Amino acid sequence: MSEPADAADRRAIPPVICYPNETLPKVPMDLYAQALGGAVITDTVIADPREACSFHVPAGHFFRIVSVDGPQVGDLNLWNANDLSERFYSGKTRALHGTHVTTGDRLWSCFPHLRPMATVVHDSLNWYGIDAFGGSVHDVIGTRCDPYTGHLLQGGHYHHCCHSNLTRALADARGLSLHEAEPHIHDVLNVFMCTGFTRDTGQYFMKASPVRPGDAITFFAEIDVLGALSACPGGDCSSEHSSDTAACYPLMVEVLKPAEGALGDWQSPTPNGYDRTHGR
Ligand SMILES: [Zn+2]
Repeated sequence: MSEPADAADRRAIPPVICYPNETLPKVPMDLYAQALGGAVITDTVIADPREACSFHVPAGHFFRIVSVDGPQVGDLNLWNANDLSERFYSGKTRALHGTHVTTGDRLWSCFPHLRPMATVVHDSLNWYGIDAFGGSVHDVIGTRCDPYTGHLLQGGHYHHCCHSNLTRALADARGLSLHEAEPHIHDVLNVFMCTGFTRDTGQYFMKASPVRPGDAITFFAEIDVLGALSACPGGDCSSEHSSDTAACYPLMVEVLKPAEGALGDWQSPTPNGYDRTHGR
């Protein structure tokens, strides 16, 4: 197809940000930082390599995902601990904050709730920025490695993809069968994963994560949260996933409780205020 005469003019139109986010509720980062400073660890769980763990975080507590032993990527699912139908919405989080999240960004829940579930209060990798390939850390563009896509592309049945790991973790956490748990698994926050889109073909790429043992990302739980974290079979995601080839390491999750009164008059956010009449 030949280009129209005004092709260059059309391409030269500057982009407009879809969702200017200056009107989002202001994040009380100073309050969170102060509360985190006096918080104590109340629970520690480990996601073993190629496995997932689950954890409960009461509203107003923190949770921290820590790299231990070696570079490792984690796939995170979050639910309202009191209602599994309210879960993390990676697509809207991406629309509001961009392809990757860091300090000050929030993880939003699905419709009709659309409220912050968690806020990133500290990220030891926020120095990374966006590299020359367009890559950055902690993406909300990937979905999760899963046995269905693996079967589609390569055949076979690999059971330790993040999708299956998260399914087993949720089933164990809530006493569900695997088939009951699976529909609750959703697109993830790719913790510590370094990803982007190639500039020439627009394809999703990954590269070795810059994470090193001791690195951590810390969240404030805005509502009661049930979390599940999979230590991806891709390890640092430098070469391949959905197999036992990559070197894999555990990930640690700590739950932290702030000191009594540290949050002042902070209140857990209510569900979205749209009246849901949809024009009828
Ligand atoms: Zn994975």
